[in-house]
Amino acid sequence: KKLIEENGLNCDISLDSDACEGSIGLKKSGCHGFCEMGPVLRIEPSKLFYLKVKKEDCQEIVEKSIVDDDIVERLIYSRDGIQYPEQEEIPFYKHQTRLVLEDCGQIDAQSIKEYIAYGGYTSLEKSMFDMTKDEVINVITDSNLRGRGGAGFPAGRKWSQVKAQKSPVKYVVCNGDEGDPGAFMDRSIMEGDPHKMLEGMMIAGYASGATEGYIYVRAEYPLAVERLTNAINQARDIGLLGENILGSGFDFDIHIVKGAGAFVCGEGSALTTSIEGNRGMPRVKPPRTVEHGLYGKPTLLNNVETFANVPIIIDKGADWYKTIGPERSPGTKAFALTGNIVNTGLIEVPMGTTLRQVIYDIGGGIRGGKKFKAVQIGGPSGGCLTEEHLELPLDFDSLKKVGAMIGSGGLVVMDEDTCMVEVARFFMNFTQNESCGKCVPCREGTRRMLDILEKIVAGNGELSDLETLEQLADTVTATALCGLGKTAANPVKSTIKYFRDEYIEHIVEKK
Ligand code: SF4
Repeated sequence: KKLIEENGLNCDISLDSDACEGSIGLKKSGCHGFCEMGPVLRIEPSKLFYLKVKKEDCQEIVEKSIVDDDIVERLIYSRDGIQYPEQEEIPFYKHQTRLVLEDCGQIDAQSIKEYIAYGGYTSLEKSMFDMTKDEVINVITDSNLRGRGGAGFPAGRKWSQVKAQKSPVKYVVCNGDEGDPGAFMDRSIMEGDPHKMLEGMMIAGYASGATEGYIYVRAEYPLAVERLTNAINQARDIGLLGENILGSGFDFDIHIVKGAGAFVCGEGSALTTSIEGNRGMPRVKPPRTVEHGLYGKPTLLNNVETFANVPIIIDKGADWYKTIGPERSPGTKAFALTGNIVNTGLIEVPMGTTLRQVIYDIGGGIRGGKKFKAVQIGGPSGGCLTEEHLELPLDFDSLKKVGAMIGSGGLVVMDEDTCMVEVARFFMNFTQNESCGKCVPCREGTRRMLDILEKIVAGNGELSDLETLEQLADTVTATALCGLGKTAANPVKSTIKYFRDEYIEHIVEKK
């Protein structure tokens, strides 16, 4: 309200049907998530939703959606021949809870006015004018929001640690590096709703006492870079970034730094050193990033999805947030659903949703009627889950108990024809390529593990190789310097644990 009143900002966005009467507009939104059925087109306010749209369909869509008032076919959903009355009734959407992704696919990502018209930046306003810094941090702490980048560290604890530092210079850094193969959750937020994460960063800056923010985004995401640049410029133009924001006395600005695509730069200390212009390599900790981060100053580092949760929590409160998902891991999690599954796409579900619900209710089951074999969760740092885990709730603690991790949220589903030794080889090849080489256990250990896996896949393995592989996996996990090395063996460990017979078959059959 203050923003609109004091800046004379015209936010007259026509959102209701009366205001739209007699006019038709076309806008490009962010991703709706239903990749399998794209391109999609949604008509407002009638909510007609068209899938797999082709250029030649457009005439008919206009006639049916807009000209014909007596429309019967309210929704076209051709895969199973069923028509649903609302987009939200399609099974792919019905079982989701979209908080962070709620406005992706609804709003024009290039319009700050539209974001504001949908209630955007009211949480920043509330934080700056109605709450002290400690109150903001208390809400984030009470909400039990845990970092969505992989490890699930409590965000509120991190924020208060940064605030407690005496340094007059502090930074907020957003990790938009998203290097896991098959993961594109953060990309979708940056492209589809960039102001939401900017607002989260600004609130973090206000609460922690930082005056500058950096977004580290991979250069392979040119559209995300473009949308973020546009969003930052728009925010600066109306006084939401810069000095004395809205007369609050709070100074804050945000810059974008493009990463060159090294997976290791998702690790905090490698990321900050890369922003500084150096080669992205992790360093020994402590000191931790909260004390000694970017340019040696206290740094609040969270990823895109974590920051995008912040305005929602400030708006609706910690108690409301804790009603979603389990108490120790509340909220939702976005997953990229890929592999041998019917409905590939980007989904968001409450933490604690079971693997079965994700694969069968939302994903529509295994492609071609085949049998489910495993799912690789968390990319190269994660592990595989099998049929026995179908009832496992997807949250930080439940996954840790079975030796897996959510990671950033990649879910690669595999059917009965998938060779699990080849899966382990694929991920080890990725990790080995991405190892920065700084420490011996990771640099040499991943190389040796990859050699053995290649030997087994080629049919030249020995039974003793399995034992060596397990010893190496334990050693690298225990002694590597950073998270990349510490988790590199997870795909090997979990495939040996659940599919040992397959390894043995590879070795014995070829003899
Ligand atoms: Fe580099 Fe691997 Fe060591 Fe991490 S564990 S510092 S990626 S060599």
